Amino acid sequence: MAYRKPSDTEIVEAIKDALHRHGVVSSQRKLTELVLRELHRHDPDYSVSEVRVRRIAIQNDLVSIEIHGRDSEEKTKAGECPVCGGKTKRLRNLTVYGGTVTQGYKCLACGYWTGLRHRVPTLYVFSPK
Ligand SMILES: [Zn+2]
Repeated sequence: MAYRKPSDTEIVEAIKDALHRHGVVSSQRKLTELVLRELHRHDPDYSVSEVRVRRIAIQNDLVSIEIHGRDSEEKTKAGECPVCGGKTKRLRNLTVYGGTVTQGYKCLACGYWTGLRHRVPTLYVFSPK
């Protein structure tokens, strides 16, 4: 079975069409299925991963995303946003001693946040922008 990779532009168009047709999509798997259905109109051999669809949708500002997550035992590391690949920003709070303490991290691109224990995304809800 030969799979072919669509370009970013083709995926952007397919995401727009899928959202236009279906409105709010309540899981990443569902969104990917709908996007693939659009892509297959152009080429039945096209294949795309759920992560690629999610990242392209966020990076191109096509969706508002609601992220559900659960806390893990792992400590959060600063750096790349696990949802969209953007940079996360440290959230700080003032302490009574006049210093600051890190409360967690937030991504400014997609709104993902986590406390000091790594919050694992479990479900995404996509709304057209
Ligand atoms: Zn993000």
